Amino acid sequence: VAKRLEKFKTTIFTQMSSLAIKHGAINLGQGFPNFDGPDFVKEAAIQAIRDGNNQYARGYGIPTFNSAIAERFKKDSGLVVDPETEVTVTSGCTEAIAATILGLINPGDEVILFAPFYDSYEATLSMAGANVKSVTLCPPDFSVPVDELKSVFSKKTRAIMINTPHNPTGKMFTREELELIATLCIENDALAFTDEVYDKLAFEVDHISIASLPGMYDRTVTMNSLGKTFSLTGWKIGWAIAPAHLTWGVRQAHAFLTFATSTPMQWAASVALRAPDTYYEELKKDYLAKKLILVDGLKSVGFFVYPSSGTYFVVVDHTPFGFENDIEFCEYLIQEVGVVAIPTSVFYLNPEEGKNLVRFTFSKDEATLRAAVERMKLKL
Ligand code: GLN
Repeated sequence: VAKRLEKFKTTIFTQMSSLAIKHGAINLGQGFPNFDGPDFVKEAAIQAIRDGNNQYARGYGIPTFNSAIAERFKKDSGLVVDPETEVTVTSGCTEAIAATILGLINPGDEVILFAPFYDSYEATLSMAGANVKSVTLCPPDFSVPVDELKSVFSKKTRAIMINTPHNPTGKMFTREELELIATLCIENDALAFTDEVYDKLAFEVDHISIASLPGMYDRTVTMNSLGKTFSLTGWKIGWAIAPAHLTWGVRQAHAFLTFATSTPMQWAASVALRAPDTYYEELKKDYLAKKLILVDGLKSVGFFVYPSSGTYFVVVDHTPFGFENDIEFCEYLIQEVGVVAIPTSVFYLNPEEGKNLVRFTFSKDEATLRAAVERMKLKL
């Protein structure tokens, strides 16, 4: 394997999902629904295939999908963007992240991450030869450490990566925190890359896109996807929204990474993004019910559960059960209890910082969540 990828192992999601299968464990690890996306979107995909939309799409997206993304973004953030020059369709948000980083970051550029971070950020930054700095969000509220963030920023900072609602903690960046980040970006002439794939799973406060803050649109790449919002994680449909001068970099990388994204799925995704508001309301209501089942269940098992206001994840402190670290706890949980969770230490530059925390997802039907809680109650 190339040196730039040497330090990375098989992704924790792949490892944990295969262990789940091997041990017949209930998988509350990798974040994907065990129920299907809505029929109106699936039917639209079938229809698009039948209608013969099966050859390469325009590299940066089929026109109707670029427009649907721009319409959705206007509804959500109030920002008006040009679908032709400011929207790029990618194969999932993970590709949007890669295209953004590879298209806009030079070797040696400093990029700031908030730990814990979604694993692809660090790996893709490594592919780009970036110099990664991290600022740790600590329990109990995972708020941004103001002084530390200020001290990490400098004229050498090329970009900061934001993820709100935040995987794995469920934290949502507050307006004050985003304003601080915006001020620092502007002062240091840095870019903001923001992964907002869980924006429709915001349970307590409204989601805020940093691109909508004064002076930020021009220096921000906003990324999102279809998977979480429409329970279609396997479709791998994502996008990046950025001013034309940044979109150019994103598109140059995208053109040589995947060239284009699945054509019929883009047709279906256009239908999805134009869903009535009731779809989004229902989604949130269903997830809130699941969240309550899991959170109450985990508490009754004896975990300390950190408050999560967005995403379909919760993070708990496993130390009441006496294990050395998150990896050992998760191994026991899979082998002896029959439940899979994600150890969080892999999401830090310094794994020690995550050793007390594990992540559970509630993106599962209610019976599965209850069964997992029962197993833990019985065997932990
Ligand atoms: N985003 C999902 C999670 O955090 C998994 C994505 C993946 O498996 N790469 O669980």
